Amino acid sequence: MPSAQAKCPACGRRYRPDPASAYRPFCSERCQLIDLGGWLSERHAIPGEAAEVPTAAKPGDEDP
Ligand SMILES: [Zn+2]
Repeated sequence: MPSAQAKCPACGRRYRPDPASAYRPFCSERCQLIDLGGWLSERHAIPGEAAEVPTAAKPGDEDP
């Protein structure tokens, strides 16, 4: 029995990669979307949050 198993980088599950699969190196389309979505949202959240902090963090700091 050939051990042609791979580990999905999204869910960490072991699966048998299909050479014809379009979701490699992920085990399924779901995991591909999860990984891609998480990566995008993470990248998107950092500049978005940092840009909102200076304007919304100190509303009453300019009070003399
Ligand atoms: Zn997976």
